[in-house]
Amino acid sequence: MTKPLVAIVGRPNVGKSTFFNRMAGKRVSIVEDVPGVTRDRITVDTEWLGRAFTLIDTGGIDPKSEDALLSQMREQAQIAMDMADVICFFTDARDGLTDDDRDVANMLRKTKKPVLLVVNKADTLALNDAMYEFYELGLGDPFAISSVNMLGFGDLLDEIIRYFPADTASPEDEEEIIQLAVVGRPNVGKSSLTNRLLGENRTMVSDIAGTTRDAVDTLFTDADGTRYNIIDTAGIRRKRSVEEETLERYSVLRSIAAIRRCDVALLLLDARDGVTEQDTKIAGLIRDEGKGVIVIVNKWDAVEKETGTLEKYQKQVLSDLKFISYAPVLFLSALSGQRVQNVFPKVREVYAAASRRITTGVLNDVLADAVNAVPPPMQGGRRLRIYYGTQVSVRPPSFALFVNDEELMFFAYERYLENHFRKAFDFPGTPIRFLLREKKKES
Ligand code: GDP
Ligand code: GDP
Repeated sequence: MTKPLVAIVGRPNVGKSTFFNRMAGKRVSIVEDVPGVTRDRITVDTEWLGRAFTLIDTGGIDPKSEDALLSQMREQAQIAMDMADVICFFTDARDGLTDDDRDVANMLRKTKKPVLLVVNKADTLALNDAMYEFYELGLGDPFAISSVNMLGFGDLLDEIIRYFPADTASPEDEEEIIQLAVVGRPNVGKSSLTNRLLGENRTMVSDIAGTTRDAVDTLFTDADGTRYNIIDTAGIRRKRSVEEETLERYSVLRSIAAIRRCDVALLLLDARDGVTEQDTKIAGLIRDEGKGVIVIVNKWDAVEKETGTLEKYQKQVLSDLKFISYAPVLFLSALSGQRVQNVFPKVREVYAAASRRITTGVLNDVLADAVNAVPPPMQGGRRLRIYYGTQVSVRPPSFALFVNDEELMFFAYERYLENHFRKAFDFPGTPIRFLLREKKKES
């Protein structure tokens, strides 16, 4: 089930990331933080009054960019309008209204989506008077908040969730259609691969409109009768005159909607470039969203090879993409069609792994093995105890572990457990999650 997406837009320094981080709170779990990989979070899952949603900071993508500020803001606003369910337009009470604010507001007024005007840095009541000039923007009543002090969040969040679609049960689960997203930087070969996949296996193709302007959906059944919906983000190549480099940066943001809707993502790399920063960001998103992933090294035909090239290359890719080191890697050429036939079988494998259910009995045997082989380390004279575990969901496989004290679970040990599980159960291409539940032992 896809959670509603709430986008934060606004010029730099109005406090967008402060708000974002406050909302993230401590929900950003240790499991997701892999040492040695620093990466800004672009989205965060959070909730208000029991309604789960995802916040996306469209401004967080690249503050160092040298593009003109206004064109950056416009691009961000456009992305928000294309894919968000609710848009929060951030301004600054201390600066007052600026020309850039007016310009972006002009764009935002044209969308049919709900736009909430947020005036941040209203730290004191005195600043509430500064609110009036913001009515000029024609975006309704401003919400005065202070991100630093977490003031005014309640009213804003109440309003945000009012616009969410009624709780949607997920009908997709009944009909097995594997949602497959084809993502990557511009020009890595997404359209070429999509065409190959459809061309060589076509039994039925129908184009249906994507839910956002960022992707084209194609329903498709392969020779085995497996059904796929291919979510092609190649449409990201926009007609407007956006520079190549800008396009590349925003391709990360634009792939979010497709990633959120998919079961398995094909992350395409250009073999000639290796892993770039944008690739890393997209990989991080796929992991954060809990989706299956296959890394595809495309344009393999264009690389000079000798014995061992492939093995070396594969090692390097997985080391560059540490936090998805469980991903299968395929080397192929969308241009010549070489090894394209391996894609669908791999997708089925990853989908099956992500959907696997482990019985509680077997799970606890493996857990006991793990703990016996390497007991949790002591901490301040106390030791983590894991009483038992049970699988609570699939896609991704998620396991509740009942423990004496969740504070005693450390990253390294969780990593160890994950590796042990992967060895025992084989989960190619899918993240797995541990959810800690404290069980006070009656003593
Ligand atoms: P962004 O560029 O929009 O993401 O802005 P940041 O979140 O990086 O914030 C820019 C600056 O404004 C930082 O120095 C923040 O500490 C400050 N700031 C953010 N929110 C508030 C607020 O509510 N009140 C005050 N006084 N300062 C804030
Ligand atoms: P997209 O922007 O990711 O959809 O990329 P395209 O599918 O439009 O491909 C971009 C360019 O790369 C085109 O000129 C393709 O012909 C070329 N290309 C795609 N796949 C391959 C490949 O496997 N090998 C080589 N040499 N070129 C490729």
